Amino acid sequence: MNTLLIWPLIPLTYWGGQYSVKLIGRRAFMPPLGLLTVAALCPQEWNLRLVDLNITGAVSDEDLEWADLAFISGMVIQHSSMKEVIRRCNKAGVPTVVGGPHATSSPEKFDDADHLILDEGEITLPPFFKDYAAGCAQRVYNAGGEKPDITLTPLPRFDLLDIHAYTHMCVQFSRGCPFACEFCDITYLYGKRPRTKEAHQILSELQILYDLDFRGEVFLVDDNFIGNKKNVKLMLPELITWMKEHEYPFWLYTEASLNLADDDELLELMSQAGFHSVFIGIESPSVESLRETQKYQNIKGDMLGKVHKIQSHGMEVMAGFIVGFDSDTEDIFERQIEFITAANIPMAHVAPLNAMPNTQLFNRLRLEGRIEGEWEGDTFDFCNFATKLPALTLVRGYRHILSTLYTPENFFGRLRDLMGALKGSSARTLGRLNMTTKIKYLFPLIGALVKLGMLDKDRKHYWKFMFWVLRNHPDKWLFALCRAITGHHFIRYTEEVVVPRLGLLEKELQEKEQLLLVAAAS
Ligand code: SF4
Repeated sequence: MNTLLIWPLIPLTYWGGQYSVKLIGRRAFMPPLGLLTVAALCPQEWNLRLVDLNITGAVSDEDLEWADLAFISGMVIQHSSMKEVIRRCNKAGVPTVVGGPHATSSPEKFDDADHLILDEGEITLPPFFKDYAAGCAQRVYNAGGEKPDITLTPLPRFDLLDIHAYTHMCVQFSRGCPFACEFCDITYLYGKRPRTKEAHQILSELQILYDLDFRGEVFLVDDNFIGNKKNVKLMLPELITWMKEHEYPFWLYTEASLNLADDDELLELMSQAGFHSVFIGIESPSVESLRETQKYQNIKGDMLGKVHKIQSHGMEVMAGFIVGFDSDTEDIFERQIEFITAANIPMAHVAPLNAMPNTQLFNRLRLEGRIEGEWEGDTFDFCNFATKLPALTLVRGYRHILSTLYTPENFFGRLRDLMGALKGSSARTLGRLNMTTKIKYLFPLIGALVKLGMLDKDRKHYWKFMFWVLRNHPDKWLFALCRAITGHHFIRYTEEVVVPRLGLLEKELQEKEQLLLVAAAS
């Protein structure tokens, strides 16, 4: 059975890193781990071919002629590309099997797919394979609430990748989160009881990446890495040993909740294992907004102090922030900027609140009759519900936040403060990289810096920053270089795409407001 595994296009976004990816001569940011796991679950005799549209741009006619079957996965943001891929497969007569988080949340949007494999594939793929072989495959397979034991999940088929086309690799240790933030769909998709793999699985996955000659940043794509602290603490000592034995070939980062700061043992273990960054959903400096969205774990204690504590263990905090909560007042925009600046967070992902399907937020707003549209996973899908703050105030404030945070001066200002706040492992770990890793990984990075330093209109900021790092934190120069390159994406994307688009939206809303005023006056 010739089978295509197709990963649709991810449009330009903050986290897509497209500007930086280009700069270091790679073609995509991160591979589709879900599809690589699907590949591992496929019958061994099947011939598999991975097509990542973020690398190839499109599915070729030759691929479609070769294929007997096409698996397509994706997130909400990939919706239009998923639909286009399904259309092409249908036209070419290749049966489609659609799954992944978007199809699981909104199966009704995929009437054009031949088969829908919903929920986690470890449960729903085996019966599909059996029925398909017997010629009686059903249209929809779901897990009926059952969650798989991921200690039995096979090793992802990293061998199918063009591994050097990507800037980052990813592995996964756990699924699920014990918290219940109102806007989040993770507990719907993966449950409230975090399930973990065993240490030997993660080490085998890292070993495969190592043997395939990948060096650099590896993202542990867990919903909340510390959701099951007991199991994480059992795994980390083995990871530390592996990393030491292999001379720290990877720089690790992950997603976790802010209560990481309350656990000194965990902080130290992660630091020793070589985690240099952690993404945390901080969401808002407003306690009222945090309470409204049931983010109680962020209310206990001093949030700013907790961020600084994580940084003091050598881990950068990247963070998500949201505007548009019912409890937000007009000062929220300035408060967000002040918090992000005081917290030394160069990479802050600020987004308008949106109600995703199957979340508590969606259900509440639907009962209140406030849902006004669908969320399509884009930063510019401005709140899909009637907000308490006027829409114009929100758009204006949101634009103000982004255009303030991502000027070169402010980005590098926060990055400088972060360099001072980071103690310990990020410096130690990056300093311990062996020579092979340095050569493989550093040359493209240095090439990128030269391009930025010669050709970019903000080149003076890059040079100023790098010389400052060499003078003040010479042990952190590599980390600083990586972040300067990442910053290029954030700065350019904000300036060239985000701010102009939000400006247009603001103008549209202003015109609408004026028309309403005229209508009311006449
Ligand atoms: S902590 Fe993160 S993953 Fe967990 S429910 Fe909240 S937003 Fe979702």
